[in-house]
Amino acid sequence: MIPAAVTNETYENRYTLPPIEEVNDTAEEILAKQERVRKLCRERKAIILAHHYQRPEVQEVADYVADSLRLSQSAAATDANTIVFCGVHFMAETAAILCPTKTVLLPDLRAGCSLAAAITTEELRAWKARFPDAVVVAYINTSAEVKAESDYCCTSANAAKVVRAIPAERPILFLPDKFLAQVVARQAQRSNIIAYPGFCHVHRAIRPEDVDEVLNAHPDVELLLHPECGCVSSCMAKALDGSLPFNRTFFLSTEGMLRHIGASPAQEFAVGTEMGILHRLKKEFPERSFYPVNPSAVCAFMKTITLDKVIRSLETLSPQVTVPAETARKARRAIERMLELA
Ligand code: SF4
Repeated sequence: MIPAAVTNETYENRYTLPPIEEVNDTAEEILAKQERVRKLCRERKAIILAHHYQRPEVQEVADYVADSLRLSQSAAATDANTIVFCGVHFMAETAAILCPTKTVLLPDLRAGCSLAAAITTEELRAWKARFPDAVVVAYINTSAEVKAESDYCCTSANAAKVVRAIPAERPILFLPDKFLAQVVARQAQRSNIIAYPGFCHVHRAIRPEDVDEVLNAHPDVELLLHPECGCVSSCMAKALDGSLPFNRTFFLSTEGMLRHIGASPAQEFAVGTEMGILHRLKKEFPERSFYPVNPSAVCAFMKTITLDKVIRSLETLSPQVTVPAETARKARRAIERMLELA
């Protein structure tokens, strides 16, 4: 079920995609900059958290490279004074919520997220008013204010687990990703999930025809799809009717993809998510082959972070991301409920 008032919204007027900066550093220059980052981290007692979609040279200098869930847990566990978040704004906010006494830096404040932009607090309040008995489950790709209005937070790695923990008779308002909502409803065998109609512009562009193309070119692959992809409902239907090999089609978070590949005997994988994950996959599994389902799946928000900006951020201890105390207190409840279940 989709709220009629916003069904045809494309959300494009809610965010500005930054241009993707070309970096032409030589290998020596990259090494020198990474060394500078490490030195500054020691001086500042800082750690670097990087998402799987970051540029390879940024992933290589990070203390932890992971998905949103693991990065939240790393932020919560660190004893460093300063966290440099190489990811996007909602991730840095999550770190600031979990670590209120630490300095959280986001090297470029233009690192937003089209999915997080899809729902505002006012829209969520209006939606909740229509379904007063519902439990609100907010994907981690939301602003701190939206999390503060929610009962549970979730990531793509644990969304089905969170939904299963909610009593079966309670309807669930699941936001903001409609594709993830479809996968979760199927995984949790739940018919009373009401999906908000938002989406990530990068993952929505991974279409059923892209899947057909990669499977035609590489018929023996295992197909690994992030549940935000625009092709998920078509692929779930095809997997059920047998036109996609059911036992070779998987809907996984980026961390889930890493675990799955580690345990799989397969040699070839078609990967449907943002291109940045391929750096980690090729590094962890150099003997396997990976084919992107859509090589244009590049997130301009994630690519705003460069080594130069990480250095500047550590030198100046800016830009900082903070969350007002009362918003943080309410948002922390939803995040901690998720972390307890995870
Ligand atoms: S890939 Fe999509 S969901 Fe992830 S940060 Fe970019 S816009 Fe947001």
